[in-house]
Amino acid sequence: MGRIVKTTCLLLLGLGVLGFESAEVVYDECKGKPENAVCSEYAGKDAGRAKNVILMIGDGMGVNQVFAARVQANGPGEPLALESLPRRALVTTCSRSGYTDSAAAATALATGHKAFVKDISTSPEGQEYETLLELAQKLGKNAGLVTTADITDATPAAFGAHVPARKERQGVAEDYLGQTRPELLLGGGRHEFPAPLLSRARAEGYAIVYNLPELNRLDPMKSPRVLGLFAEDNLTYEADRPPDSSEPRLREMAGFALERLSRDPDGFFLMIEAGLIDHACHLGKLDKAIAEVLEFNAAVETVLAWMGNRADTLLIVTADHETGGLTIAGDHYQKGDTVKAKFTTKTIPGVPALHSKQRVPLFALGPNSAAVKDHLDNTAVYCLVRNALLPPE
Ligand SMILES: [Zn+2]
Repeated sequence: MGRIVKTTCLLLLGLGVLGFESAEVVYDECKGKPENAVCSEYAGKDAGRAKNVILMIGDGMGVNQVFAARVQANGPGEPLALESLPRRALVTTCSRSGYTDSAAAATALATGHKAFVKDISTSPEGQEYETLLELAQKLGKNAGLVTTADITDATPAAFGAHVPARKERQGVAEDYLGQTRPELLLGGGRHEFPAPLLSRARAEGYAIVYNLPELNRLDPMKSPRVLGLFAEDNLTYEADRPPDSSEPRLREMAGFALERLSRDPDGFFLMIEAGLIDHACHLGKLDKAIAEVLEFNAAVETVLAWMGNRADTLLIVTADHETGGLTIAGDHYQKGDTVKAKFTTKTIPGVPALHSKQRVPLFALGPNSAAVKDHLDNTAVYCLVRNALLPPE
């Protein structure tokens, strides 16, 4: 992929009035061996002050997916809630394999280590990298993973499991229940939990729920642990959702997670993923992807309402990688328009679009967010969170 750097982006980055514009698409070079981040470079004056961390990941959500959603929902001049956070950056997503997948990308975010594609928080030699979820647990905090995809899919897995290949879904489920045991696991993937694993979950104190009414009946102040399996595989696309659906939406799962986890006086770590932006982009379906970005944005609004004026919580909203190499033509758009867009990645038979090397946006608010630089590598996101929880070594 050729290097395309629009120089205007460097000028615009500092303005911070809106989110990123479609002209700000910048590509990674992915040359040479990517290195792990040096965490001491990402510590602000208020390092070590975060009681809670909420990391929100739009899987496959590039600058242009956000721009397309903004135009449709708000018009081009009115940022989405997720774009309103005061600190912002463009993030490189290359893996040790060059291009990335959600496994290597989420491993970088969760552990600060560059990985090869398909690896889940594990080195090629089998060494398990400590994840942000495990670090938070060591500090006595509660932890939760929420996704619209299968709960054993690569992004949540990289925070709560260690397996050498992302397809080892049973190994991920077993790590959740036997090794990391987060207080909260909400998503799809019912078929990954056969009866013996469900018995094990109950023995570990998990209340198991399968739909929104059951989730709503749980008292977040009482259930010790919650396993929500709301679909056999991934949850339903927002665009395809029947009006009488009993699946919770991402905003509802986020709201429950905040209520449940915030009862820990030591604080919490929560990862919330919009997993289906990526799937819609692989299919070349921009309308579906926009609906997923807007539901992700609604979940950000839920989180911001919960945060209020509190100064003890770091919120980072970002993506693991961009999907489709989305480009947008024209710029005279109005609210409600569907942008003229094209997925440009080279494809393989049966898959209209692949992951690209576009840098992805990051927005942040709260302790240690002042350490966000205009351009970051994905491994630095780990450092920003780590240093928010603990002063740098
Ligand atoms: Zn993908």
